[in-house]
Amino acid sequence: MKDKEIQKSCIFCKIANGEIPVYQIYEDELVKAFLDVNPIAKGHTLVIPKKHYENIFETPDEVLERINIICKKLAIKIKNKLGATGINIINASGKDAQQTVFHLHYHIIPRNQNDNLDLWFHKKSKEEINLEEIKNKLLI
Ligand code: 5GP
Ligand code: ZN
Repeated sequence: MKDKEIQKSCIFCKIANGEIPVYQIYEDELVKAFLDVNPIAKGHTLVIPKKHYENIFETPDEVLERINIICKKLAIKIKNKLGATGINIINASGKDAQQTVFHLHYHIIPRNQNDNLDLWFHKKSKEEINLEEIKNKLLI
């Protein structure tokens, strides 16, 4: 699909362009933030670039920087106004990482002590991983 066609069918492009109404809480020239339509917690928020980038791999650094700064501002606001005592900021990049909408977005998820959410890692695999080898592959 060509860029224009992707953007026509992309639900977050439509939100970015104001074609689909959302409960918007922030907007600037690069990003928008709004409430997730299907929240897993009170205040579950999405932060998106206004331009279409499929995932973190495609997004320019300056846009990622802005998204991070806005995530922090919104996390503070959610903590102060909704009484969250913790915050998860999560991005899924790629189908195998459970991304379902293929326009970059970060989830901001308010947390509380007994919220019955479990979003964290639990080691299931007993597979041995050679940390030295992985470190050598990943060194930048
Ligand atoms: P993903 O699974 O790709 O990380 O998350 C996509 C998120 O987008 C989901 O949490 C879903 O509820 C949210 N979402 C999908 N369509 C819409 C929509 O039209 N409006 C809003 N506000 N959120 C949406
Ligand atoms: Zn899009």
